[in-house]
Amino acid sequence: MKVRIVTLGCKLNFAESSALMNELIRRGYERAKQGEQADIVIVNTCTVTDTADQKDRQAIHRVRRENPNAKIVVTGCYARLHPREIADMVEVDRVAKKREDVFQPAYSKDDRTRCFLKVQDGCNYFCTYCAIPYARGRSRNPSIRSVCEQAMTALNEGAKEIVLTGVNIGDFGRTTGERFIDLLQALDTLPYDDTYRLRIGSVEPNLLSYEIIDLVAQSKHIAPHFHIPLQSGSDEVLRIMNRHYDTALFRERVAYIRKVLPYAFIGVDCMVGVRGETTERWEQYVEFIQSLQVSQLHVFTYSERAGTRMLTMDLPVIPMTERHRRSQVLHGISEDKLQAFYALCSDMPQTVLWEGKNDHGVMYGFSENYIRHSRPFDKNRINTFEQISAQCK
Ligand code: SF4
Repeated sequence: MKVRIVTLGCKLNFAESSALMNELIRRGYERAKQGEQADIVIVNTCTVTDTADQKDRQAIHRVRRENPNAKIVVTGCYARLHPREIADMVEVDRVAKKREDVFQPAYSKDDRTRCFLKVQDGCNYFCTYCAIPYARGRSRNPSIRSVCEQAMTALNEGAKEIVLTGVNIGDFGRTTGERFIDLLQALDTLPYDDTYRLRIGSVEPNLLSYEIIDLVAQSKHIAPHFHIPLQSGSDEVLRIMNRHYDTALFRERVAYIRKVLPYAFIGVDCMVGVRGETTERWEQYVEFIQSLQVSQLHVFTYSERAGTRMLTMDLPVIPMTERHRRSQVLHGISEDKLQAFYALCSDMPQTVLWEGKNDHGVMYGFSENYIRHSRPFDKNRINTFEQISAQCK
């Protein structure tokens, strides 16, 4: 039986699809090669926004066109939250909607260079706009020991960079009573040679302690790369969203990173157009973002998620055209910030991990502070580090 898994959404989904494929292979299934008809296609879905739901449905239509005789099974966050919608699609044979409340370990093995290692799942924060806690359940994690064992396996299999993934990874420790900082310290001192690199996924600002930032500053392995969800630059909107911090805390964290790691990449998640984001609050948001010395914004346009608390709140609704306009404004600011960051790093020596070829046949890779570099393709350089003297691309 030949199986294919089509994955949408975040790095966590990719890690879980990889673990699922490995389990299926262990049970005697075969991975369908590119262009080959599969007997079973599993679609692992995302439901973070309306656009994600649309992409899931498009992927299911495409999978059916390309594999007319396959059994199509749909799993993931969209399937867990909206099983009926998926089951009603004529293309779908089965919906796997069960939500696990135990931690299911996973790491991606498909990419030889980078390994996405799942260190946490679920979330207890219940931000008022977010449906993820309903899809993925409560926060849980494996032990530090088992994460380190998986990391060692990935390194021994050839991975050079391990990216820590989860839903709310700074919340690591709910199950085991351990701390996220202790996990980072253990991963920073693995009994392996000095060449591996660690990258921390998104950490909530209130959980990104000075201790963690100091550890990254002193570490040989942890990349100076922070991904911090801000979501709004208005304190009123942060309260409406039930976020666990205010803009002052966010500003302090960014300033501290810049003090101890002036060349660190700081990516910031920004949501636009949530209910209650009045013109005045939006203007405060833009002003706040402009004043922050961050490297890039990841912009998300708010879309109503069934079952979330924001829908029950008596708040002004921002029209969709205005949400898109605000998104464009933040995209513009993001581009300026990225160029400023590249200019700041232009004289700085960097270590690039070469990954592979892009669609134009050019080799690409990323530096420790997440600057994308390119060079003419050389297959011998795949999965190797190279010290280079700047040249931002
Ligand atoms: S922290 Fe908030 S936005 Fe992130 S997954 Fe949890 S509830 Fe959703």
